[in-house]
Amino acid sequence: MADDRFHVYDTTLRDGAQQEGLNLTVADKIAVARHLDGLGVGFIEGGWPGANPKDTEFFRRARTELDLKHAQLAAFGATRRAGVKAADDPLVAALRESGAPVVTLVAKSHDRHVELALRTTLQENLAMIRDTVSHLRAEGQRVFLDAEHFFDGYRSNPAYALEVLRTAAEAGADVIALCDTNGGMLPDELADIVHEAVQSGARLGIHCHDDTGCAVANTLAAVKAGATHVQGCANGYGERSGNANLFTVVANLQLKRGFDLVPPGALADMTRIAHAITEVTNVTPNSHAPYVGASAFAHKAGLHASAIKVDPNLYQHIDPAAVGNDMRMLVSDMAGRASVELKGRELGYDLTPDNTKALVERVKDLESRGFTFEAADASFELLLRDTLHGQRRRHFEVESWRVIVERTKGGELVSEATVKLHAKGERIVATGEGNGPVNALDKAVRLALEQLYPDLARLELVDYKVRILEGTHGTDAVTRVLITSSDDTSDWATVGVAENIIDASWQALEQAVTYGLLKAGHETD
Ligand SMILES: [Zn+2]
Repeated sequence: MADDRFHVYDTTLRDGAQQEGLNLTVADKIAVARHLDGLGVGFIEGGWPGANPKDTEFFRRARTELDLKHAQLAAFGATRRAGVKAADDPLVAALRESGAPVVTLVAKSHDRHVELALRTTLQENLAMIRDTVSHLRAEGQRVFLDAEHFFDGYRSNPAYALEVLRTAAEAGADVIALCDTNGGMLPDELADIVHEAVQSGARLGIHCHDDTGCAVANTLAAVKAGATHVQGCANGYGERSGNANLFTVVANLQLKRGFDLVPPGALADMTRIAHAITEVTNVTPNSHAPYVGASAFAHKAGLHASAIKVDPNLYQHIDPAAVGNDMRMLVSDMAGRASVELKGRELGYDLTPDNTKALVERVKDLESRGFTFEAADASFELLLRDTLHGQRRRHFEVESWRVIVERTKGGELVSEATVKLHAKGERIVATGEGNGPVNALDKAVRLALEQLYPDLARLELVDYKVRILEGTHGTDAVTRVLITSSDDTSDWATVGVAENIIDASWQALEQAVTYGLLKAGHETD
């Protein structure tokens, strides 16, 4: 570790894993740890060895499988039980034997919790802290202490809460992280309490939950008040409303407060890392996440677009490249010519004023019929190409398609699709089977075209969204389908709208394949 003056401490694998619906295997934890190390965090809390077999296993495997470049592993655990020696407590032994260079002990700092939850005396709680910290220190591990419910405890009994800090620091804890365990604090009061706690002389850290929506703000307020160790979770994972989003905290401190927290170049990899972690956790990325969300630098309103064309910095708080993100223009009926022109430029096309005008008209017409191009960049690009060429150009022309859905004797539903199309002067008929009509159509069209374009095999349909749009006055409801496709390198989305859901799906599917072929370098004639 290059610099010990300020700590970035990640607790995704312990506190973040408490998130509802999140379930990480040991292999997942190792993969997440690698990503966090890639970002250059100082500490990765791996879990609670001894209390949780999966976490014991994580620390065991980490010794051989994890080659960390920046981070140190921390094992989380509690102070010894009341009335035993730290050296004799099996849970303390598990921390000692975890092989982690750092142990983070959680301890009560709220008098009522000591009496009601721990069911021991205030004095014994201090003795438990003192013994456990000094025992682990003597055994050669670095010790941090998480002062649980510190802020609520300070309100209840400030003298005792501060006594906990002093006791831990005197016993040899390097950092005492003040925990807003219930997540109910607001920045002003929290900063006042941190300021008081700093007077104890202990080195302080901060651990915030987001129940008031202030976890990041509270973390920054604590740093301003003197904390030199910040805890948080990747993508703000955590139980209830989540923990402080460590990515937001790091970006704020580094870009707005001049801290030097992660290695050179690592911050510019943050967006990729944030998304790579969502691949492991299988939690849909929050597109509105600060700094790293897909929408974090997306602009919609037409009024803004014309000014963005002149100077993008007028409408964004940082250069998105600093965190590895991109500015995006959203094409919608709220947007005017400027955003269409900008979007065209973003995609690498130079539009003449006439082309722009024609394209804007087409976009407006289609959007009035239920299409949306904000989330369907690939459909927009195809529309743009058609406008530039003055005609619709595709790699294949569809003669017809047909789908049947059959319920078998066993009660299983199977779909079978047949497509007839013309490509490279050939007429091709192909049939595909699938678990649903869209799946069957997807298989049939690819079976037909893979004979001519073998690289279509890399294309994969990764997401399918359906929305029923209420009909406006005098018209029927229509169905909008958004399909996200992927190859080895990126994703793209296409849109279809029709009264019939399969027809809408087909439109989106046909464009998805067309775009995939263009992306693979196959030009249309
Ligand atoms: Zn917590």
